[in-house]
Amino acid sequence: MLTLGDPGPGHERCVHCGKLAVGPCARCHAPLCGDCCLLTEGGAKTYAICFACAERHGTNLTRAWWHVIGWFLVPIGALVLALLALHVLFPGR
Ligand SMILES: [Zn+2]
Ligand SMILES: [Zn+2]
Repeated sequence: MLTLGDPGPGHERCVHCGKLAVGPCARCHAPLCGDCCLLTEGGAKTYAICFACAERHGTNLTRAWWHVIGWFLVPIGALVLALLALHVLFPGR
């Protein structure tokens, strides 16, 4: 009995056009074919990412790292500002 439609494991279909995928997106790991991926710049290695991720984050992974660093710096900056505000509002006696 033939099973059609399911390419099986290791033969995933591109999430965009349904062609046989050549590899996963480096960000969301969605299977992509050669026509539906963008190559990233700036890294030591070239990665393929899907259009949705490229639109959301850009193709530059270096910039993505700055986003990660920003995620750390923003709460720390907010904490420092809160401490400064407390110091101004309630000066030590
Ligand atoms: Zn495709
Ligand atoms: Zn993606």
